[in-house]
Amino acid sequence: MLKFDVITIFPGMFAGPLNESILARAQERDIISVRVHDLRDYAPDKHHVTDDYPHGGGVGMVMKPEPIFAAVEALRCPEDSSCKESVILLSPQGRTLKHSVAGELARLDHLILVCGHYEGVDERVREYLVDDEISIGDYVLTGGELPAMIVIDTVARLVSGVIGAPDAPAGDSFAEGLLEYPQYTRPADFRGLKVPEVLLSGNHEEIRLWRRRQTLLRTLRRRPDLLEKASLTKEDEGLLRSIRAEGQESS
Ligand code: SAM
Repeated sequence: MLKFDVITIFPGMFAGPLNESILARAQERDIISVRVHDLRDYAPDKHHVTDDYPHGGGVGMVMKPEPIFAAVEALRCPEDSSCKESVILLSPQGRTLKHSVAGELARLDHLILVCGHYEGVDERVREYLVDDEISIGDYVLTGGELPAMIVIDTVARLVSGVIGAPDAPAGDSFAEGLLEYPQYTRPADFRGLKVPEVLLSGNHEEIRLWRRRQTLLRTLRRRPDLLEKASLTKEDEGLLRSIRAEGQESS
């Protein structure tokens, strides 16, 4: 079971996303566990203060180190256990969350997620406590709670048994470095907008080839940077040549 422990000053924010749909079912079935901890419970003073003014002056408040160190130390795996663990600070300055990073984290046993707020956390938390810092993108949110939920969701769906169709994550965008082909469902004709004929043909080889071509076409048009790094087969290269020969690169 992959265990997530989240440290936050706003535990109430997690109730909705964690208690619905796939994440709720995965917890009920003990495939993952998510526990959310109020950082104030680890603040040593009687007012449970978790932030203070920045040394040196400046705007905003900074999250104090004592409660964060106390919370992480209380939640860590026992030292003598073989548990594979990572303490992660959500931070706009961290490495960017990608499919490959989520895959790495999904192979661990325990993730402790530390959510910052205000101007962020005291630098000693970064330097001496956490193992990793993760950013969800080059923009700044008000707090680490939404990024923590995104990490939980992204990582959990890669844990075996969480998604009903076990092969689904392997075919998703980014799993092999490309974007997924377009998907259609019934009706085959919606207001005159028709599903591509090949998908109704029942010819599995033609469908596979059409989808592969669409995957390559889509990635070429939308994310050519991904194509440069993807490992392509001879068939892929042939399909790309025909896409280019037909002048279809731009939409
Ligand atoms: N002053 C900080 C800076 O410029 O790097 C930004 C602090 S931000 C307002 C407050 C908290 O939100 C951060 O400590 C972090 O936990 C979270 N946060 C904001 N943007 C994030 C992002 N892109 N990815 C992950 N966490 C983020």
